[in-house]
Amino acid sequence: MREQKEPWRCPVCGWTAPEDRKNESWDHCPNCLAGIHEEETEDGICGGILEPVSVWIREDDSWQIIGRCRLCGGMEEMSMTAWDNRMKILSIAARPLSQPPFPIERVQELTKLMGGRGEIGGNSDEQRK
Ligand SMILES: [Zn+2]
Ligand SMILES: [Zn+2]
Repeated sequence: MREQKEPWRCPVCGWTAPEDRKNESWDHCPNCLAGIHEEETEDGICGGILEPVSVWIREDDSWQIIGRCRLCGGMEEMSMTAWDNRMKILSIAARPLSQPPFPIERVQELTKLMGGRGEIGGNSDEQRK
């Protein structure tokens, strides 16, 4: 339900949609591949900047850009278009695995959760006494 009177403008690099395509809904910037996180939260639309962190190819051979929100850390998938900067995409695809496309902290959280279940079992044993 967004109004598209103004051409899409990238908040990161300032790229603007060309005059003849300004009514298209761009979900990310074809120049730097950043997008806007439009997920609805309790406070309204998040609006954070989605930084391109990874690319992957779907089973149907369509390229997807994975963006991570600077504000809430949420991940969003953006379909690659013919307009996208190929060099930028290649540089993201070639990023070393030392920069995983997800926050390491979350992996540690998950590990803690799994460990936590074992402890709950131990507690119920004690309660039986
Ligand atoms: Zn941009
Ligand atoms: Zn967000």
